[in-house]
Amino acid sequence: MELTVLGKYGPFPPAGGRTSGYLLKIGGKKILLDCGEGVFSALRAFLSPEDLDFVVLSHFHYDHACDLGVLHYYLENRGRKGTVGKPVLFCPSDDSPFARSLSALSTFRAVAVTDGFSCEEEGISFSFFRMRHPVPTFGVRICSGGQTFAYSGDTNVTDTLIPLLEGASFALLDGAFLPRDKGENKPHMSVDDCGGFARKYAVKTVISHFISDYDEAEVVAEIERQGCIPAEEGKTYRV
Ligand SMILES: [Zn+2]
Ligand SMILES: [Zn+2]
Repeated sequence: MELTVLGKYGPFPPAGGRTSGYLLKIGGKKILLDCGEGVFSALRAFLSPEDLDFVVLSHFHYDHACDLGVLHYYLENRGRKGTVGKPVLFCPSDDSPFARSLSALSTFRAVAVTDGFSCEEEGISFSFFRMRHPVPTFGVRICSGGQTFAYSGDTNVTDTLIPLLEGASFALLDGAFLPRDKGENKPHMSVDDCGGFARKYAVKTVISHFISDYDEAEVVAEIERQGCIPAEEGKTYRV
């Protein structure tokens, strides 16, 4: 499997950066994980968007979902030429107007997920776990051919990270905060929280959701000190 980082910042990027979006290739399928600001444009450097098999939105915060409408315009345009099927869109069951409008986009086949929801589509199995974040947010565990990938979306430390990560060979975790800023009531984990999970479950871990107000060199150094991989936009990681 391989993971390409399209956008790594949140809740907003610096000049030239992008917010959350990742392209996962597993079991011969192409899966877009979140679709934040600038992600559609970044995606086009790696594939034709009509070739996406699945889109997973961890939650309906703008930094993870705002480019979905642009992807919709693209698919709608190509669809009119009769060249595109509908990718499955896994997204939280969420009643906010923003969530409802994106879930209803006609170019996707939306599947609303809840805690513990799992399914198998086209040889890929998906399992969703409720995370700890201010809006309904789901981490996803994706398995194919004996390989397991885990993505936390946005979350602070929570018990459901255990079934998400146990036995996974590759993980992408939200480590937005430096250790000095971590806190029980924060919406994200810290880099050292992620490092603890990576060691406990012996999983190769990329840490993302960089806050652009930090000194990035300090964040990268802390991630490497934790034995994890700092997300880099445009870079592909293979397991
Ligand atoms: Zn975010
Ligand atoms: Zn969020």
